[in-house]
This record gives sequence, C-alpha cells and structure tokens, in this order.
Amino acid sequence: MQVAVVGGGMVGLAFALAIKNGCPGTDIRVLEARTPKTGAPPPLDSRATALNLASRSLLDQWGIWQQVAQSAADILAIHVSSKGRFGSALMEAVDVGETALGYVIENHLLGSLLLQHAQDNGVVFQAPVGVQGVVTDGAAPVLQLQDGGELAADLVIIADGADSLLARQLGISSDRRDVAQRAIAANVRVRGGQQQGVAWERFTAHGPIALLPLPEDTPGYKRYNLIWSAHPEQAAELEGLDDAEFLSALQREVGWRAGQLTAVGQRSAWDLTRVCAREQVRSGVVIAGNAAHTLHPVAGQGFNLSLRDAAALALALEELPVTAGASGSMAALQRYQQLTAEDQRFTTGATDLLATLFRSRGPLLDLPRDAALATLDLLPPLRRRIAQRGTGQGITAATGQAGS
Ligand SMILES: Cc1cc2nc3c(=O)[nH]c(=O)nc-3n(C[C@H](O)[C@H](O)[C@H](O)COP(=O)(O)OP(=O)(O)OC[C@H]3O[C@@H](n4cnc5c(N)ncnc54)[C@H](O)[C@@H]3O)c2cc1C
Repeated sequence: MQVAVVGGGMVGLAFALAIKNGCPGTDIRVLEARTPKTGAPPPLDSRATALNLASRSLLDQWGIWQQVAQSAADILAIHVSSKGRFGSALMEAVDVGETALGYVIENHLLGSLLLQHAQDNGVVFQAPVGVQGVVTDGAAPVLQLQDGGELAADLVIIADGADSLLARQLGISSDRRDVAQRAIAANVRVRGGQQQGVAWERFTAHGPIALLPLPEDTPGYKRYNLIWSAHPEQAAELEGLDDAEFLSALQREVGWRAGQLTAVGQRSAWDLTRVCAREQVRSGVVIAGNAAHTLHPVAGQGFNLSLRDAAALALALEELPVTAGASGSMAALQRYQQLTAEDQRFTTGATDLLATLFRSRGPLLDLPRDAALATLDLLPPLRRRIAQRGTGQGITAATGQAGS
C-alpha cells in the first residue's frame, strides 16, 4: 500500500508513524511545503502542547514515549478557579491513580522527535515540496506538486492545517463557529508559587486563561506556557501592552497562587474559530488534524484528538487492507469514520462548551458555575471522573472510541 501525507506538521507525522506502526509494510511519503526549522527557540519564545494520558499510551505504543517524556514537564495537578468568585477545584494525579495528569512538551521538540522517529521507521519525508492539488477522478488519487511533478498513492492523508487548500479544492466545505475570542500565547517566568507541576486554569469575565508548567530552565524560577483567551477587543489591548504592563495585567487576572510573574517571551495571537470539515473521507482521501477539526485551544485537545484519529486509521487499515482501484480504500475509511465519530463529537462539543460557558457572566451563570467548582473540590469520585475524561482515560486508545 502506498500512502502520501500532505503536510508534515505534528499531525501529518503522527498519522505516518501510526500507520507505519500498524501496517509496517506500507510505503509512506510525507510532503511538507516548508523546510523544517533547525535549532531551538529561546526558552521564553517556544510554543507547547499538553498531552493527555491516552496520548501517552499511543506514543508509547509507537515507541517514542520515552524520548518525549525526557523533554516534557509532568502535570501533577490542575487548579481550576474563577476570578472574583468563591469556587475553586484542585484535581490531582492521585485522583486517577496516576503519577501525572498529563505532560507539556515544547512543539519544536515534539515535532523533531516525531520527524526523527518517523524517518527511523522508514517514512520518507520530503521538504520543501508544496502540493497544489489532488485529482480523484475515478481512479486512485494523484497529487499535483508545485514543481510540476505528480505522485500517485492508494491513500492520501490531507493534513495541511486549518483552512486546508486541498479540502477546498475537493469542494469540501466546513462548519465554522466563531466563538468571538482571540488567544494570546506566550511563555512566562515565575518566582515563588506554591507547588511544582501545577497547571492553572482560570476563568475570567473575558475568557479562560491557562498556565501550563514547562520544564524548568532557571534555578529558583518556574516556566509556564500561557494561553490567554479573551474577547477580541480586550485581546487587542493586551497585544498593545509592553511586557511589564502585560505581566501586571496577567497577574491581576490570575492572582498570586502561581507565584510572581517576572518575565514574558514573544507573544503570538490567533482569532479562535472552531472549524469542522463537513466530510472527512472520500474514496482514497482522509482529511486530518486541523484540516478536519480546528478546536479552541482552551482544553488542549486538538492534537490529542488527532493522535486518537491516527490510531483509529491505522487500526482500520490493519483490519481492512486497501485494495487496488478507485474504491479500494472505502471499506477501511468507513471503518475509520465509525471508530472516530463519537470521540470527535464528544471532544468538539466539550471544548465548545468550555470555551463559551465560562466566558458568559451573569448571576444566573455564576452561581451554578461556582457551585460546580466548589462541589468538585469536595467530591472526589466526581472529580476523578472529570479528571479521567480530561486526561483522555475514558477513551479506548486503540480504537479512538469514547469509553464510559
Ligand atoms: C495556542 C494553541 C495551543 C494549543 N495547545 C494544544 C494542546 O495543549 N494540546 C493539544 O492537543 N492541542 C493543542 N492545540 C492544537 C494543536 O496545536 C493542533 O491540533 C495541531 O497543531 C494541528 O496540527 P496540524 O499538523 O493539523 O496543522 P499544522 O500545524 O498547521 O500543520 C500543517 C502543515 O502542512 C503544511 N502544508 C500546508 N499546506 C501545504 C501544501 N499545500 N503542501 C504541503 N504542505 C503543506 C504546513 O507547512 C504545515 O507544516 C493548540 C493550538 C493552539 C493554536
């Protein structure tokens, strides 16, 4: 079987790795438009991804977890609170009988580990190679390359990111939901603070703020990856502040539990639009990653979900090998959809709810919300159930299906 992956971002590489693991004889080629960056950004300028426990077990299955763990920070607890309200909750790894609730790794490290491991396992990575079209007129798909060349494959995985050019070319439209939020991402350095390895999730009138622990780089200081979601007008104001003003504004919003904010790195910002492709499979074609579903980063689920999608596709291809001809992959792709539908629906819905519920303010919403947070801290079994969902433990990793 020949598989071509368009887009060598973290998701394209993960799909290649998953398929190589499940179907080792497959010939897999990843085509990436940009030359991969070498070297590391300064410690305060990197971007990071939180991995849940289901992702840990998949990366372990694919033989890459040990290296990932060496570069990641453990999330030992998650503290959830609402600014100016009485409720707060602390979920700890012991609640789910684990040593960590999740892990945070910088994207440049995760990306290069995925690339290295994929290549070590025989995946061919070609960059810079831009793909400008895919032809699927009755036969197996053929990719049209920007340099004029063509590449035929039994299966094409389109992982070219949000606003996918190739999905648009195939006439695949998307459901878009504008959540009227903009996210600012940056790394911050903190002095003091209570505990090691705590992820701080703070809900404010304007939107949620997350501080995720990063591996430490300076003795006596902690380093966090910040995702600050705010109404676009407030985000524009925050983007205009100098570093000292930005840190003061952030300190006012998050309080002092996490410690004293002392430095911030390069900030970047995105308008947050939830986009889901209306079709994810066509004969010989799968749409994956951000091209299939771009989620609000508040819950840190986009990449985690894509890893489960990748595992499900590998399983479907293992069960129902692709045969020659135009519809040779359809049985496997229908199985893929069966395996992923409920997990995608649940994850997308839960992320939307989190992004919008905690944004709205008013007495009717505040009271139940505060009560929910306070109750959560008092009721360990409920807390355990919620923590398990958040860590992806309720997901059957091998199939991508949501568990009970
Ligand atoms: C601020 C923020 C924080 C996040 N935090 C988390 C988190 O903690 N946990 C989590 O699970 N998820 C998180 N996410 C989501 C996660 O980052 C995405 O799910 C993931 O990066 C999607 O990767 P991708 O490979 O699909 O897309 P991309 O990273 O956009 O990669 C697409 C690749 O395709 C290439 N490409 C594009 N067009 C072509 C073409 N025509 N030919 C060839 N190549 C092409 C591009 O160059 C690029 O390399 C976060 C997202 C944001 C914005």
